[in-house]
Amino acid sequence: MSSKNINNDRSVIFALSFALFSVVLALLAAVMIFISVFVYEHIAQSEQAMNNIIDADISQTYPTVIIDAGHGGEDGGAIGTNGAVEKALNLEISFMLCDMLRASGMNVIMTRTEDILLYDRNADYMGHKKSLDLRARLEIAKSNPDSIFVSIHMNAFPSEKYSGLQVWYSKNNSGSKVLADMLQSYVSNKLQPENGRKIKQANSSIYLLDRAVSTAVLVECGFLSNSAECEKLSDGNYRRQLAFTLFAAIKEYIGNTDI
Ligand SMILES: [Zn+2]
Repeated sequence: MSSKNINNDRSVIFALSFALFSVVLALLAAVMIFISVFVYEHIAQSEQAMNNIIDADISQTYPTVIIDAGHGGEDGGAIGTNGAVEKALNLEISFMLCDMLRASGMNVIMTRTEDILLYDRNADYMGHKKSLDLRARLEIAKSNPDSIFVSIHMNAFPSEKYSGLQVWYSKNNSGSKVLADMLQSYVSNKLQPENGRKIKQANSSIYLLDRAVSTAVLVECGFLSNSAECEKLSDGNYRRQLAFTLFAAIKEYIGNTDI
C-alpha cells in the first residue's frame, strides 16, 4: 500500500469520526433541550397548582364571628327562679360557642370575657354605664363590618308560663334574618321540638340590633322566669347542647352564604 493511499484512508476515518462526533453532539444537545423544556413545564405546572391551592384557601376564609355575652358587672340581667343570674349564664354559653367556632377554624371576637360592663373607668360614667356599655359593644361590631354579630341573652317574664328559645334579627342587613331563621330552625329541630316560636325583627328597643349594620342577631336562650327551663339553663350539659346547636346553625349559615 502506498503512503498516498494510507493518507487517504486516514482522511476518510477522520472525516467519519468527526461526522459521528457531530451527530452525537447534536443528539446530546437535543436531549438537553428536551429535558430543559420538560423540567420548565413541570415547574410551571407545579407553581400553577400551588397558586390554585392558595387561591382555594383564601376563598374558604371564614368571616369573623362576634359573640356578645349580654350584661355583666353591675348589670346582672334577669334573675332565675332558682337564683341563677343571666350575665353569668350568657358568658358561659358564649365561651362554649367561642371554643366550638375557633376549633372549626373561625376567627372569634368576644365583646367581654369577664364579669364587667364595657365603659371607660376614667370617663364620666355615672348614670351612663349601661348606655356606654351598649355603645362600646356596637363599636366592636362596627369595627368589624364583615363580621357576624351574635348576642347571647336569657329571657324573663312576670308569669312562669312562657318558655323556649327566641331569636331576634336586625332589619339593617338581609343576612340577619337568614341567620336568625337558621338558628331558630336548628333549635326547633334538634333541641326543643316543642318550640314553635318564630323569629322576630328587632325594633329600636333592642339597641344593638337597631344600630348594627352587619349581620346581627340576638338569641334569648330561654326563660329564666320558667322554673323548668331555668333549671335546664343552670345545667352545664344542657348549656353545652344549646351552644352546640347555635354553633351548628352558624356553621351552616356561613357555609351557605357568600359573605
Ligand atoms: Zn338580657
